[in-house]
Amino acid sequence: MLETTTAVARPEINATIRQTTTQAAPDVPPVNFYSLSMEDLKSYFKSLGKETFRSQQVFKWVYEQRVTDVEKMSNLSKAFRSELPKFLSFELPPVIQHLKSVDGTQKFLFDVGKGMSVEAVLIPSADRLTLCISSEVGCNMACKFCYTGKQKLKRRLTAAEIVGQFMQVSDRLDEGQRISNIVFMGMGEPLDNCEAVFKSIEVLTNDWGMNLSRKRVTVSTSGVVPEMHRIWKAGVRLAVSLNASNDEIRDHVMPVNKRWNIEELFKACREYCRETGDKVTFEYVMLKNVTDRIEHARELHKLTRSVPCKINLIPFNEHPGSGFERPDDDQVMLFHQELMDLGSHVLLRRTMGRDIFAACGQLTDPKLRQDDKMDISNSNLGGKSVRNSSGGQPRV
Ligand code: SF4
Repeated sequence: MLETTTAVARPEINATIRQTTTQAAPDVPPVNFYSLSMEDLKSYFKSLGKETFRSQQVFKWVYEQRVTDVEKMSNLSKAFRSELPKFLSFELPPVIQHLKSVDGTQKFLFDVGKGMSVEAVLIPSADRLTLCISSEVGCNMACKFCYTGKQKLKRRLTAAEIVGQFMQVSDRLDEGQRISNIVFMGMGEPLDNCEAVFKSIEVLTNDWGMNLSRKRVTVSTSGVVPEMHRIWKAGVRLAVSLNASNDEIRDHVMPVNKRWNIEELFKACREYCRETGDKVTFEYVMLKNVTDRIEHARELHKLTRSVPCKINLIPFNEHPGSGFERPDDDQVMLFHQELMDLGSHVLLRRTMGRDIFAACGQLTDPKLRQDDKMDISNSNLGGKSVRNSSGGQPRV
């Protein structure tokens, strides 16, 4: 059954304070800094009897200076520096594999404990550097065309683990590079993990955090309608994984549609447009003989014309046991042309990172790839399987 989270007033702060009141006990592990907003840290310090202005100092060290060695935080008193590690940790999820595609895409595999891992993908283009991040280990939404969906939900990531993906990749960029955009399109349904996802957005977009523009953050949902309001309230962009032009096909390829159908989904999309004045991005995975016919293009145009939007066409990226095929290039072009002729704003997405299984719908736990006998060593990596500084072994 689909699980969703329920909104209450600033629950993340309440949770943090509840959590932090027990932190002074000697055998309680420290709170992970990357899960906290400035206000959270102030409340935490207050609960410990510390000066709240220390919060600003620590935030500046970490997000402005990228200093996490407490001993180097020179404006903190010696006594405070010595006790800080007892109640605050700066741990990031270790990168255990880093692969580079021939097209410049990079994939990072993170260890999130207990044998579990998640992937993030860095996608370069002429005018931006986009990081696609994961919000869950596995996913319960079971979209039929998605490799992640083959792996049931194992765990929702914490805000620290989501922010941690960003920090780890940022720390590995070349001189002068900066991640310009974030898309929550990796493993997991972001709206199935709202508390952590929106807390991480708060950290990544505030000036006391990573100061990324909210307009450069996109949350993609399969259609968890009751939680979609959080996207416009957070001031970030909405993408909808649509993938079908009618309920019959969508019920088949995306079980979430049986719970919230296209009519309900589009009502929420129209509300997003009204509230933000922005367009929705509809992602449309083209499956041979299932969603790639000309009549589907016409139906898709009719369906989407009531919503200010753009449509991203994504020819299916094959993986074992999906039961679907990638359409022929000619059919993709015909479909694209039909939508353009009808007046839709449509883009044909160039497939990136296929050789390292980093393309759309290909992310999963590497163990599943091993079970499916997908041998990445045969793909054209240009010899770029890189072991990271944490010393982890490439698993794939
Ligand atoms: S497409 Fe997204 S929501 Fe659907 S199974 Fe894959 S990760 Fe989950």
